[in-house]
Amino acid sequence: MRAKFSNEVLASPSGAEMTSIMRACVHCGFCNATCPTYQIKGDELDGPRGRIYLIKSMLDDAPVSNSTQVHLDRCLTCRSCETTCPSGVRYSRLLELARPMVETKVRRRPWDRFQRWLIRLVIPYPARFAALMAVARILKPLMPRVLGELVPAAPSKANDSGAVVRSRQMILLDGCVQQSAAPSINAAARDIFNQLEIQLRSFPNSGCCGAVSYHLGEVAEAQRYAKNNIDAWTDTLEAGAEAIVSTSTGCAVMLKEYGDLLSENPVYAERAKKIADIVRDPCEVIDPQALSRIYQAQSVPRIAFHAPCTMQHGMDAASKAEACLRAVGFELTNVPDGHLCCGSAGSYSILQPDLANRLLDQKLTALESDAPAKIVTANIGCLMHLQRRAGPQVLHWLELIRPHRVRGH
Ligand code: SF4
Ligand code: SF4
Repeated sequence: MRAKFSNEVLASPSGAEMTSIMRACVHCGFCNATCPTYQIKGDELDGPRGRIYLIKSMLDDAPVSNSTQVHLDRCLTCRSCETTCPSGVRYSRLLELARPMVETKVRRRPWDRFQRWLIRLVIPYPARFAALMAVARILKPLMPRVLGELVPAAPSKANDSGAVVRSRQMILLDGCVQQSAAPSINAAARDIFNQLEIQLRSFPNSGCCGAVSYHLGEVAEAQRYAKNNIDAWTDTLEAGAEAIVSTSTGCAVMLKEYGDLLSENPVYAERAKKIADIVRDPCEVIDPQALSRIYQAQSVPRIAFHAPCTMQHGMDAASKAEACLRAVGFELTNVPDGHLCCGSAGSYSILQPDLANRLLDQKLTALESDAPAKIVTANIGCLMHLQRRAGPQVLHWLELIRPHRVRGH
């Protein structure tokens, strides 16, 4: 992409990085073909190429209007465009750098600011989220259908086998929403890893990965969450913990970005980079053959696997989770357009309900098209979003595997 940027832009660290990313774009438009928002809206500015153009105009010092903010807000940060792009344009990084700049140039409407403030005030804190949901469940019968759908069912009590000391140790990110909305997921992870002779250790002083704030353009707040987690884990990592495991791919991808997030912090930059390098999804740790010796499905239920965007476009790990499910004996159904986002995308389903609901309907039609007995996924946001219309037949893939332990193990 040809562009003429001011010396001021080129001299600033984020400006220099953004211009370097944009210069890799050859404007071919291949990315539009796999962009969910372009597919729905049919507007060049709701596709990655158009959004790159809007960001370039901003750096060119053209006036930034509310329209720029609207089109960037509609991006799911699903990264489907990144895996399509032949030039390797790091679009999601560009967007994360651009969003805070737009916030300084365009003032949001009061309702928009209030919603964003409330999301940042509640979602990263499990106790606040649990209290709000308890009240929301009581009021649900009085709510309009679209709002009521956002209220998840009360979680079932987690059957947590607790910690068993093993010589192989890894750190488990407890996360925020997942702790109160679906505690059975990390309980399943602890139990399965224990069977594989790996101890997953939790740290109550760690917390939200920072993704909620980061994707809303609140970089300093995301950095605070990241520093808190790094401080909580440093001693255990130095004592020999092998990896940091997250059962939510959205959080895992955020942890993998800690190196970029804190690259300019002299105290944390090095540790942040080291942590980013050892973050793993469970499927990146579990050996399918070892798993199959301990877990075997008695029948062969047909399962639809929804690979979250963060897993397939962000980590390129979907085939590993599928290999684990097949090793245990599940048959995976065909899911058309598996590369498209379900519309969850963190707080996107709250802030962009129309687009999120259209994507949800499309995704459920695709997932149910081959008559699966269950739907499994790997990210708490996708799981809760799909459950809104598909109910408890949607599980995390580790929850599906856990009850199938072979007798004697
Ligand atoms: S596919 Fe890549 S190079 Fe082509 S327009 Fe999209 S971002 Fe630019
Ligand atoms: S991240 Fe997803 S929604 Fe955003 S431009 Fe890329 S493909 Fe489109």
